[in-house]
Amino acid sequence: VEQIKEKLSIVDVVSSYVKLEKAGGNFKARCPFHNEKTPSFLLSPARDSYHCFGCGKGGDIFSFVQDIEGLDFPATLRLLAERAGVSLDARAKRDGGEKAMLYDVLEAATKFFEGELRKSPAAIEYLKSRGITGETAKTFRIGFAPDGWENLVTYLRQKGWQESLIEKAGLSVKGKTNPYDRFRNRVMFPICSTQGKPIAFTGRIMPGGDDQMGKYVNSPETVMYHKSSVLYGLNLAKSSIIKESKVIVVEGQMDAVMIHQAGNENVVAVS
Ligand code: ZN
Repeated sequence: VEQIKEKLSIVDVVSSYVKLEKAGGNFKARCPFHNEKTPSFLLSPARDSYHCFGCGKGGDIFSFVQDIEGLDFPATLRLLAERAGVSLDARAKRDGGEKAMLYDVLEAATKFFEGELRKSPAAIEYLKSRGITGETAKTFRIGFAPDGWENLVTYLRQKGWQESLIEKAGLSVKGKTNPYDRFRNRVMFPICSTQGKPIAFTGRIMPGGDDQMGKYVNSPETVMYHKSSVLYGLNLAKSSIIKESKVIVVEGQMDAVMIHQAGNENVVAVS
């Protein structure tokens, strides 16, 4: 409450509901809580409070918003916290907890795909044919999702992850009977936060694979991944972008990977 009061001026809050007139160091208005023709509602910025001499209502921004919006106190607190940009502890903890779990399950999936790449000569051969070195594959944490419907889902469940979380991370699709892997028989490119944590994937179909779902499949929008605000490779490019004061923007992951490999690390893809 104190933090919110520090950040929001009572004048700003009240004036978004009521037309205020300056009256010396104070403001007056026609009271929003009772019907009147001449203003008897007085607002004092210095005291951070208001009082109506007609109906007797008075208080601070909390009581004002509570009354004018018809909300209870917790709802008022949420509304004003948002307006002030103050995070509420309980809510922040709950969201933080889920995000932390989503980061973990996405990291586990990345490790799974990396391991599967090492086991797949065909996928390694494909990357080589595209000119990608082993070192580059490691840097970008490129992996492989094997063919089949439940490889990743089964692996993650065995590791103790809940189905609902796997789905929330965008890794599985709710089937008619069982959830199944979103990415199948695809070379996997993790999309990372600027801190380098995987938040989503792009999967490119293997040559000759069933491309009914498209050559590229992307993670859906999730709590972690907002497509329009993420650039592929930014985690690896940021220091070089700052150094060069320049950034190369390309369309696809493969282009970004190849340009990085050729020595221009200040490259990102819009994917
Ligand atoms: Zn009044």
